Amino acid sequence: MAFDLAADLAARREQHRYRQPLIQDGPCGRYAVVDGRRYLNFCSNDYLGLANDPAVIAAFQGAVADWGVGSGASHLVCGHQRPHQQLEEALADHVGRERALLFSNGYMANLGVMTALLGKGDAVFHDRLNHASLLDGGLLSGARFRRFAHNDSSALRGQLQRSDARRKLVVTDGVFSMDGDVAPLADYAAACEDNDAWLMVDDAHGLGVLDVQGRGSLFAQGVNERVPVLMGTLGKGLGTAGAFVAGSHALIETLIQFARTYIYTTAMPAAVATATLVSLSKAREEHWRREKLAALIQHFRVGAQQLGFSLMESATPIQPLLIGADQQALTLSQQLREKGFLVTAIRPPTVPEGQARLRVTLSASHQETDVEALLVALEEVGR
Ligand SMILES: *Cc1c(COP(=O)(O)O)cnc(C)c1O
Repeated sequence: MAFDLAADLAARREQHRYRQPLIQDGPCGRYAVVDGRRYLNFCSNDYLGLANDPAVIAAFQGAVADWGVGSGASHLVCGHQRPHQQLEEALADHVGRERALLFSNGYMANLGVMTALLGKGDAVFHDRLNHASLLDGGLLSGARFRRFAHNDSSALRGQLQRSDARRKLVVTDGVFSMDGDVAPLADYAAACEDNDAWLMVDDAHGLGVLDVQGRGSLFAQGVNERVPVLMGTLGKGLGTAGAFVAGSHALIETLIQFARTYIYTTAMPAAVATATLVSLSKAREEHWRREKLAALIQHFRVGAQQLGFSLMESATPIQPLLIGADQQALTLSQQLREKGFLVTAIRPPTVPEGQARLRVTLSASHQETDVEALLVALEEVGR
């Protein structure tokens, strides 16, 4: 049978790779409510605790009253409302670029920018661990596809030197979503400069979190002027939804003309843009959020290390515990759940074979006592 879906699903289940969403009966925050039980939530990407912030909620509610819910059209037809424009200007200003352009989400931003910049005869160079949306953007563009070992700038340099492609685009996550480590951006920028290539950074997990003002990986590493294409998302550190690409005037005009995922889709609700204006300014000004996060990260790492867990090279709120076998990661996740903690088991194909892990994420919405409680639970299930 050509469409034997039941057999494919059964095979997936046998591999312990069957996935199902949990139904959340409350907002994203310190706690998650599932099936009538309250859990400490250690799996969201709401690193700064802005997703359910009262001022962000109030801004959203006020904007819905002024602008309605739906934007009604794509940006280039009649969906581009004043709050979208204001947010694009504020984002460009925040990340020190001439212009920024909104997309409905990060997945579409990556598809849009890569297909607008690349075609046949071009080449795209990926870190092996890049996010799925970057890989898909490269495939959809029709450019030749190269992957280099994780965070290996000399491997990249060799590939660039051997390439005779017309355009060469190097793409990388700023902070790796399943590992929490950061890309060596200065080395990549130098390799690109020496080989007439462009560098694009997807800073979904860096924006709001890294740098003293939350301007992300490029500022944290002092390379902002050397990275022509910056993609950032609004649904993680900034706590709302959507994404943007920032860069030169010419880059943004190119995207407006050629990025199909910008052109052929309805603009995000204006209220999301207004709420993001507030969360962006809170992310920039409220240093306590990053300071608190740094203390929680330190606390967790020291504690988990003492318990003998395998931490990864991460100084960010993404603190995976490497487990190895799929089944063991699932069991640990389930045992933590029974004790009142929500921690996701991440399995292949999201991560490489044999590297299943518990992906613990920390948030400014947590308290030190929450981290302490998680460490106690890890000690009990780890035995
Ligand atoms: C989450 C994520 C995306 C996708 O962003 P959405 O706005 O959630 O679609 C893209 N890249 C990376 C690295 C991400 O972690």
